[in-house]
Amino acid sequence: MSFISDKVENLPPYLFSELQKKKKTLEAKGIDVIDLGIGAPDLPAPNFVYDKLVEEAKKPVNHRYSTYSGSSEFKEAVASFYKRHYAVDLDPDTEVLTLIGSKEGIAHLIQAVINPGDAVILPDPGYPVYQTSVHLAGGKTVLLPLDAYNGYVPQWEKLANKDVQRARVLFLNYPSNPTAATIELSTFMKALSLAVEKQLLLVNDAAYDQITFDGYKAPSVMQVPGAKTQAVEFGSLSKSFNMTGWRIGYVVGNKNVIRALATLKSNLDTSQFLPIQKAAATALRSDFSTVTAMNKLYKERMEKMHAALREMGIYAERPRGTIFIWAKVPDGFYSIDFANKLLDEVGVMVTPGIAFGSLGEGYFRIALTVTIKRLDDVIYRLKKLDLGGEA
Ligand SMILES: *Cc1c(COP(=O)(O)O)cnc(C)c1O
Repeated sequence: MSFISDKVENLPPYLFSELQKKKKTLEAKGIDVIDLGIGAPDLPAPNFVYDKLVEEAKKPVNHRYSTYSGSSEFKEAVASFYKRHYAVDLDPDTEVLTLIGSKEGIAHLIQAVINPGDAVILPDPGYPVYQTSVHLAGGKTVLLPLDAYNGYVPQWEKLANKDVQRARVLFLNYPSNPTAATIELSTFMKALSLAVEKQLLLVNDAAYDQITFDGYKAPSVMQVPGAKTQAVEFGSLSKSFNMTGWRIGYVVGNKNVIRALATLKSNLDTSQFLPIQKAAATALRSDFSTVTAMNKLYKERMEKMHAALREMGIYAERPRGTIFIWAKVPDGFYSIDFANKLLDEVGVMVTPGIAFGSLGEGYFRIALTVTIKRLDDVIYRLKKLDLGGEA
């Protein structure tokens, strides 16, 4: 007896963990590996946020269960964040739900809105959690091709009509992981029209909404008129406030969908620890000066790395947001072979594009989650590589 369900047995291997295993082996041999593979910020959460956590943790009243859908303080803070940043009105009781990180919310949302056999349209390349979530819900995946030639905006005309007909949900992720692509509101407007026409639930994963440079402001799908009848948006404090381990995020938008997800989750969890929700509320109500300071840092790192890649003849679009650079693999390599070469020969870990879908082939993702000094080391090491390509 293996005691393992087909669902779990048939999950695709999480490519990050395979590379992590190799990294551990190299480190055990005493090799200094620089990890640009994992998309998690290296910086700590702001002081005022953990001060609030400590303060709230000392109050016994906060040691109880949270209400299922999350504390009203957090949900009101999410609504006020949307009002302030996007001029969008949300009802904190019915149009906002607290999540234990948006990853949890994404996986459960799919279970809450599709039946087995229903199709979900997912970006390719895209965040791997979408695909595994559809698999776990017994759904089918339809891939929405994204490519560099048009800035990774959806190519609707490439979707087969019959695939769109059987789809129930359309996932987008802007600013995007892994491609670092950013869009204007018009892209969401087009997506929403398509969603209305084809009766799809439109979902935007806005994990990087606040991490932008050069004056660019990422739009919210909720800014499109009529979005509440057809769309939801996920948000997270993981990246904007360096709170990955705290596990706090939210979903906003369509009431029926929020209610369905809240019902499912009320049978699975009882929301997040109240002091974490209250500290996160303080973060969302802040003036975001910590986010601005951090973005300045990411931009410096991005520019340094981007310039070095260009000097080496490695092409990458200059991103306007996220914590990533999405770069072209030199001619003659598959992305997995190139990532292995970097790890084996110079101890630099990147993520091969293929980990994000078949259209990620030919690219690799660099996470800008090490100090400038470490990036100097990375650049020094990369310049030692022979990039002539394989015979
Ligand atoms: C990091 C990330 C998330 C997950 O964030 P959590 O709130 O920490 O679960 C979701 N989507 C994308 C695209 C991400 O990169």
